[in-house]
Amino acid sequence: MKKEKWVQICPKCKSQNIHSDMSAGSIGMGTFQNKYECSDCGYSGSFFPKIKQNEVKEYKIKSKVTQSKKKKITKTQVCCLMVIILFILMWIWYLWPLIK
Ligand SMILES: [Zn+2]
Repeated sequence: MKKEKWVQICPKCKSQNIHSDMSAGSIGMGTFQNKYECSDCGYSGSFFPKIKQNEVKEYKIKSKVTQSKKKKITKTQVCCLMVIILFILMWIWYLWPLIK
């Protein structure tokens, strides 16, 4: 049976250039966990996804798709919020003389 190689990748830039972050700060705080740091973008955190080597390419494509989807959702949400705010403002402007 062929043994699959697992690699850890950076969730920010998808780089495999990762090393353990053993800085004095993380140990001194008493909250030292398995912390890692990306050598390429400097991202550090305890969560670095571990995936199979042959799935790295697929992961990169997938994350690109989800990122573009997220951007589209936020744009729609902003538009909805703008319409709601505008509607409330118009409603207040219309009802203000009645309240007075
Ligand atoms: Zn990175």
